Amino acid sequence: MEFINESYINSLLEDEKLNHINLQREILLKASDAKGLTLRESAALLNISDPELLDELFHKAKEVKEKIYGNRLVLFAPLYVTNLCVNNCLYCAFRKDNKELKRRTLTVDEIEEEARYLVLTGQKRILLVAGEHPKKASMEFIGEAISRIYSININGNNIRRLNVNTAPLTLNDFKLLKSFGIGTYQCFQETYHYKTYKEMHPSGPKSDFAWRLYAMDRALQAGIDDVGIGALFGLTDYRFETLALLMHAADLDYKYGIGPHTISIPRLEPALNAPAAINPPHAVDDLSFKKIVAVIRLSVPYTGIILSTRERPELRRELFEVGVSQISAGSRTAPGAYKESQESLDEHELEQFQLGDHRSLDEVVKDITSLGYMPSFCTACYRSNRTGDRFMELAKTGNIGKICVPNAMATFEEYLNDFASEETRMIGKHFIDNELRKLSGATKRRTEEMIQKVDAGERDVYL
Ligand code: SAM
Ligand code: SF4
Repeated sequence: MEFINESYINSLLEDEKLNHINLQREILLKASDAKGLTLRESAALLNISDPELLDELFHKAKEVKEKIYGNRLVLFAPLYVTNLCVNNCLYCAFRKDNKELKRRTLTVDEIEEEARYLVLTGQKRILLVAGEHPKKASMEFIGEAISRIYSININGNNIRRLNVNTAPLTLNDFKLLKSFGIGTYQCFQETYHYKTYKEMHPSGPKSDFAWRLYAMDRALQAGIDDVGIGALFGLTDYRFETLALLMHAADLDYKYGIGPHTISIPRLEPALNAPAAINPPHAVDDLSFKKIVAVIRLSVPYTGIILSTRERPELRRELFEVGVSQISAGSRTAPGAYKESQESLDEHELEQFQLGDHRSLDEVVKDITSLGYMPSFCTACYRSNRTGDRFMELAKTGNIGKICVPNAMATFEEYLNDFASEETRMIGKHFIDNELRKLSGATKRRTEEMIQKVDAGERDVYL
């Protein structure tokens, strides 16, 4: 395809010069500027194998992440609305030919119940996820679901940002999706390697590689200016996939002046009756996965890197260190599973893939706070019109922190007051006090004022 130049990527992967430690060290020095890297430079960093230099890579990625995103970790939960699907992706339990999966599409009332459950655990951001189904996951249905979720308000607690991960749409349907008031539109290419893509997607609309590849172009042309790209790691050589993902990011930035708002890095997990998930053709080990995150962070410093509960808690902790900035928590990947997890539904018969992290939101919040990260439930940017190039400008210059720090702290305080367990509240309040001490000047004043408002009972306080 036009902008995914496979032969150029392959030539970089074969270039012996990119294995030289001196060159890799030089690139790491340049990476400190947090201005991003060329594809050639990213390729050299992906080749690092020297243990000392690998440590330097991880250290540098941490430094750049802190420069742009500080110690904040944004939290969200997925909400699966249907597991019906007309595609046959060989790695996914939802695939059409999987007769062992119990199929279920939630009604709009059931979607509201799921969202209410999430609101009552303290979530403020939802990622709406659906199988591809023209009838069951129609635009009308998605629109109704979104409006119902946004209408929930439980004592000032509500879902304030709804991101969407669905099959690629036409230009007109993207315009419609935008009119529903979504935050980010996400769609993962899965693999940028054309031959592998064709093998993995034997039938259904998803078998059209180009239709998916150009989804973000159509979304941006339709005015959705926060888009999230991603690749499903494990389908082909991870170095190829990472470089192609970076090429996609650079292409969007070049054409529209708006790079990807987020990059997701799902890694293949076992899934019911899904041959490619049970035996990943190019399984990625933990160390290489960490390298992928670090290289993406240094190559596209401004982007949000999303990690899901596919990964185990111990590895998730290591990945926060090297650049992850958004995480899901307390997740379920079967439609209806939040409500019914309390009623002991056997969700494995309905879920998309198995999770590596089964902890509740409260446990995750406690854990990340203890590790020194600030949980953020902030949803301010798109409601303050800081989307697309306006967000990019702030993120690329590192100025986003002046807004994010007060917003993160105020939303964390809100969570602690309304939803946290006794232990998490104690740890969290202590953490906020310490963080406040690190601030000075206008940011400190502003943050203190916002926290006071939250403590006085005001909700949804943001800049
Ligand atoms: N059906 C839509 C699509 O495929 O674009 C959107 C939702 S799909 C449920 C969301 C993502 O789940 C896919 O893009 C894929 O990357 C990921 N996924 C599918 N099977 C997986 C597995 N076995 N392990 C990890 N992630 C998986
Ligand atoms: Fe359907 Fe998406 Fe699963 Fe493919 S990844 S089978 S399109 S739900």
